[in-house]
Amino acid sequence: MTPEAQEGNIFTSSLDFLVNWGRKNSLWPFPYGTACCAIEFMSTETARYDLSRIGSEYVRFTPRQSDVLLVAGTITYKQAPILKRIYEQMAEPRWVIAMGACACSGGFYDCYCTVPGIDHIIPVDVYIGGCPPRPESFFDAMFDLQKKVEDESYMKQRAERLKEQIEDIKRKSKECREDLVLRKNEACEMVSNTVRSKVNDVLDVFPFKKGR
Ligand code: SF4
Repeated sequence: MTPEAQEGNIFTSSLDFLVNWGRKNSLWPFPYGTACCAIEFMSTETARYDLSRIGSEYVRFTPRQSDVLLVAGTITYKQAPILKRIYEQMAEPRWVIAMGACACSGGFYDCYCTVPGIDHIIPVDVYIGGCPPRPESFFDAMFDLQKKVEDESYMKQRAERLKEQIEDIKRKSKECREDLVLRKNEACEMVSNTVRSKVNDVLDVFPFKKGR
């Protein structure tokens, strides 16, 4: 190709493709590890499996810097509110992986204290079966998640979020209007009651004026 032809090259793409390409290759996990599955996850970070191959080697221990909540281990009802709070502290877009039988379904803990699957608390995007699942299974789940991220539409999500915000504003302004009308009626009633009682007081003091 001649230098002149190279200068004239252009590259076309969609914003969705660019955003999703960036997102799917930088999925930073927040490991919520409570039991043996977490040890299995640790091995994915070793040189043998090398999680950095897919851009996910940055394991963050703050939900504000993470994209993927990785729940690895048994979740009890005592931990459930903490897990939910961590999920809520993560910025959108966020995804959740349930790693191992315990996170997916409570595993063999058929008891009063274990949550029978984290999808009772938060939405789950990918489930990894096994007790414990092998690191290869974790990679498989990450590939599934990448595929899911690839198919999402940034512009569509943005439009939906805007629509939700507009609906929210409309609902709140309607509530405000109704509240104003209610308060106005209450204030009118209060004023008329006060005036009526004052008039009655005056008439009690000057009973001769009652007939007028
Ligand atoms: S699924 Fe098995 S390996 Fe994983 S946390 Fe539960 S008991 Fe441990």
